[in-house]
Amino acid sequence: MKVIGLTGGIGSGKSTVAQYLAKLGAVIIDADKIGHEILKSDAEVRRKVVAAFGRQILDPGGEIDRQKLGEIVFNHPESLSLLNQLMHPLMYDIAKTRIEEYRQQGVGVVVLEAALLVEIGWTSLVDELWVTVASEANALKRLQKQRGLTEEQTLARLRSQLSSEERIKHANAIINNDGDLDEMKTRVRELWLRLQSQGGRNSSPD
Ligand code: ATP
Repeated sequence: MKVIGLTGGIGSGKSTVAQYLAKLGAVIIDADKIGHEILKSDAEVRRKVVAAFGRQILDPGGEIDRQKLGEIVFNHPESLSLLNQLMHPLMYDIAKTRIEEYRQQGVGVVVLEAALLVEIGWTSLVDELWVTVASEANALKRLQKQRGLTEEQTLARLRSQLSSEERIKHANAIINNDGDLDEMKTRVRELWLRLQSQGGRNSSPD
């Protein structure tokens, strides 16, 4: 089995590339979703997160409101780092377990999609690292359209992350996503075929 780490700046197209890889036959593990699951279901982590950031991050139903939490952490680097310290070890364990389960099931290609894959040292979980890159202008434009965030909110998120230059130092493949969706798909198909020729074999739909 091949494990591909898929990372890139926010709005650079990771999820769009992952969706396309799923169509080609890869199994996707989305680190963001693992984080959401933990915040929803792990009472111990929830308690620690609320203790760290206050009841202001709760919605009227007492659930953690990720929008409110995001507002705090993306504007205060030390808060982001505290949240990451609480979440990342558990997220790592879950990602690792899932990878092993897929290996047991005989899956050919797993894609681990994680915005902070390089920053938090998850490269040890993957065989290859693919990095999506889009200009700040494109990422801003696309995210504002998709999520309804303001330019200020989007920039705070963009700038809380590693620069693309830093990330691509670790890359086995770069997916330049400044073009249209067809260009992105052509590049991803090319990488997928390269992988198949190296022996990662999930069935691809016709
Ligand atoms: P995040 O880290 O915030 O989850 P991401 O890197 O996963 O972001 P996507 O959600 O895949 O980024 O893409 C951001 C937005 O840009 C989406 O609305 C997506 O449909 C759009 N998008 C992605 N690639 C392209 C493209 N090549 N052309 C036009 N729009 C695109």
